[in-house]
Amino acid sequence: MILLDVQHITKRFGGLVANNDISFQVAEGEVVGVIGPNGAGKSTLFDVITGYYTPDRGKVFFQGKEISRLRPDQINQRGIGRTFQKLRPFLQMTVLENVMVGALPRAGTIQEARREAEQLLAFVGLEDRMHVLAKGLSTGQRKRLEMARAMATRPKLLLLDEVTGGVDQKTIPGLIALIEKLRREGVTLLIIEHNMRVIMSLSDRIIALHLGRKIAEGTPGEVSRDPHVIESYLGKAYAQGH
Ligand code: ADP
Ligand code: MG
Repeated sequence: MILLDVQHITKRFGGLVANNDISFQVAEGEVVGVIGPNGAGKSTLFDVITGYYTPDRGKVFFQGKEISRLRPDQINQRGIGRTFQKLRPFLQMTVLENVMVGALPRAGTIQEARREAEQLLAFVGLEDRMHVLAKGLSTGQRKRLEMARAMATRPKLLLLDEVTGGVDQKTIPGLIALIEKLRREGVTLLIIEHNMRVIMSLSDRIIALHLGRKIAEGTPGEVSRDPHVIESYLGKAYAQGH
């Protein structure tokens, strides 16, 4: 079953076309990776799907219904959760409270939201940091908190934007293991990851963007052999040792 259907999305910032006629679909249970060099339009695409930007052209459908004119909170209620490349936890709230905020709209009671938040924090490996303020977390721990917060809204589709970005090398394997754990839980994922090896191993299917356009789509094997992808991205990335 098709969960997400992105049709001919174009998003401009003044003269810059950040997303140029992008179409693709995500089926239930799939893990789809989005790749492309910095500035390719990956985060903008996530912002369009989740309602932070309204597309100039094109439509986004979720479970067969158009969502492209809805607000972020409405889209979240329909079942799309996300993390942000630039983290934005409530720094003066505890880790537990941060996740409870995500769980509350759906939970019947505060107690239920708290129970759910505790379970999710155990799932992401932050159970022993539950009662500290979010500002006391390391970057890697904040990424885990972001994932718990996004999960708390019980999404049918979860968008992860560079979960391993900006953390030190030794923190990366634990975060990847967490994405793999989500995958095993059967959560449908649309993920942006800078590290080629990581995204190729996590994804069933890859969508490659370059200068706002989709230049390739297919299995990780197909996309990594695609001449356009090699030219625009892989060559550079491999040369830089990613
Ligand atoms: P990626 O996530 O692939 O690195 P982005 O989607 O963040 O790329 O950005 C795509 C392009 O759109 C870039 O050239 C970026 O500078 C531009 N851009 C993104 N957001 C804005 C904005 N709010 N205003 C103007 N330009 C933007
Ligand atoms: Mg980005």
